[in-house]
Amino acid sequence: MNTPFPPFASIIIDFDSTIVQVESLEDLAAIALAGCDDREERVGAITDLTNQAMAGTLRFDEALSRRVPLLGAKKEHIVELVRVLDEKITPSLKQHSGFIRANAERIYVVSGGFKEFICPVVEKLGFKRENVYANEFICNEQGEIIAADATNFLSQENGKTKLLRHLQLPRPRVIIGDGFSDYQLKASGEAEVFYALTENIFRDTVAARADRILASFEDLPEIV
Ligand SMILES: [Mg+2]
Repeated sequence: MNTPFPPFASIIIDFDSTIVQVESLEDLAAIALAGCDDREERVGAITDLTNQAMAGTLRFDEALSRRVPLLGAKKEHIVELVRVLDEKITPSLKQHSGFIRANAERIYVVSGGFKEFICPVVEKLGFKRENVYANEFICNEQGEIIAADATNFLSQENGKTKLLRHLQLPRPRVIIGDGFSDYQLKASGEAEVFYALTENIFRDTVAARADRILASFEDLPEIV
């Protein structure tokens, strides 16, 4: 790359399958649906919708609005989910929590996941809560999670791009993630560079579009 960076003024990192090894909505479903007769089918349906959205074959807003009701989740399940996710941090990122802490001002988490569980997980790794941008759950009076707040940019198709356009974070910006929505930030001009993280999952359609494929966060301090 014949470019003047790094260093990047803004480092934007995805959450699911990037900061953690898993897709957290699937883990939330597994917790919430424990003991349900149709658990396998519902978790499978959620996984299918996630994969289609991440590969760019299903609109993100449609995938999200179809997944939330399948979860059958309540507020109390979030506490258990955070415990599970704390144990599923991407190993090479865990090794760099010192770097994250030292660079926290210019590091952002932008995720189609939910603040309710992302914030408690990433704060322990040194990320700043005010630099976390994610969806928020809507619950009914019984504490059941019934939807994502549709006014949040991140619940919408191309949400990451809409959010970044709104935030006007300092440039140059790099986006690190595993999914199609991460690549879209570069395609839309909202990030100069896209690194595809493949430590947890290798998606052909995403890796093919990356400026660089990161097998892990091993080289993070040198490349951002
Ligand atoms: Mg992801």
